[in-house]
Amino acid sequence: MADNCIFCRIIKGEIPSTKVYEDENVIAFKDINPAAPVHVLVVPKQHIDSLEALNEENIQVVAPVHKAIQEVAKITGVAEQGYRVIVNCGPGAGQTVMHLHYHVLGGVKMGEKIL
Ligand code: 5GP
Ligand code: ZN
Repeated sequence: MADNCIFCRIIKGEIPSTKVYEDENVIAFKDINPAAPVHVLVVPKQHIDSLEALNEENIQVVAPVHKAIQEVAKITGVAEQGYRVIVNCGPGAGQTVMHLHYHVLGGVKMGEKIL
């Protein structure tokens, strides 16, 4: 837990969020500023700054996040039509919250291009 981290504070319940899914290892909540009809942030409860901070000791957080993404896709109704998962890694890629998180985007027809 990092005291000044927005997502750690959401995990602790200090900041309200619209929760979509939660289990022992992961929380998922709606993005406050959605970029698509479905825009959910899937976040490991363990504070890890970014994908670049993954290592041999903490890499096990990734598997439950991926399972949670499948659950979120089911719950939000985009599992069949498809969805996009984005991880911004570092300020140069637009990461603004330094707690590893996966954007799950869907509910709109998306093209093949990422950028
Ligand atoms: P990043 O740019 O770091 O990949 O994504 C951070 C995301 O967190 C942004 O899409 C932003 O809208 C969202 N966000 C920032 N603060 C809050 C908050 O307090 N609550 C929620 N639900 N989302 C937030
Ligand atoms: Zn955090």
